[in-house]
Amino acid sequence: MSEYFYVPAEFIIDQHIAIEGDEAKHISRVLRKQPGDRIWVVDGAGKAYEVVIRLVAPEMIECEILYEHHHLHEPDIDVTLAVAQLKNPSRMDWIIEKATELGVRTVIPLQTERTIARSAKEDRWNNIALAAMKQSGRCILPKITPSANLESVIADAAGYDVKLIPYERTDHVLFIAEALKHRKPPRSALILIGPEGGFTDDEVKMAEKAAFTQVSLGRRRLRTETAAIIALSWMVGNE
Ligand code: SAH
Repeated sequence: MSEYFYVPAEFIIDQHIAIEGDEAKHISRVLRKQPGDRIWVVDGAGKAYEVVIRLVAPEMIECEILYEHHHLHEPDIDVTLAVAQLKNPSRMDWIIEKATELGVRTVIPLQTERTIARSAKEDRWNNIALAAMKQSGRCILPKITPSANLESVIADAAGYDVKLIPYERTDHVLFIAEALKHRKPPRSALILIGPEGGFTDDEVKMAEKAAFTQVSLGRRRLRTETAAIIALSWMVGNE
């Protein structure tokens, strides 16, 4: 699989790209790339460039753009995953990495009545998302927002085409595919996933009042991270 390197969009001007810092060191010292070699550069904002290396210096690689691609390997749907922050930080890391591989656009670390974790690890999560974007060959860097409480996420949800609250105690067993039937393909979706202790009944009612659809992810009780990945992959499909 080709190697992908990240250069923020603001540093890409005209037909040349300068790769600096750790990325440059990796290219020159570890991969031992030479002038004439081709690599991919993604800007994190939806562009992927096929480039040819023109100059290799220890701290700077100069490249010339050959081809530009828009939304390479990106799903069409813009999915936001509002997932309850978990007590165990490494499980949150795992969610960020897998959700990035699956094509999530935004992750909101969610605070609900039963969440135990409070301190967000934004820098660490951004680094995980960056590595997973490059590894999966995406060109959009998912946005990891500051922690937000459920009330504010629900209050800001009006603009999404689809709003889902996967709920393991739902009495009407509606699966995501059924919830989406007879609708034109959504352009955006917001998915709420609860904590280890689940959503309270009042939280589910608050979501339903704001036109969130309760969906089942099957008859088994899934961990937060499993539910997040299943629901996200349902929404993204195999695009
Ligand atoms: N309330 C459960 C655990 C919650 S699981 C308990 O009593 O232990 C964490 C979150 O994953 C839930 O809030 C829900 O959003 C989601 N989830 C887990 N299993 C699910 C299922 N079978 N269907 C729909 N959502 C599920």
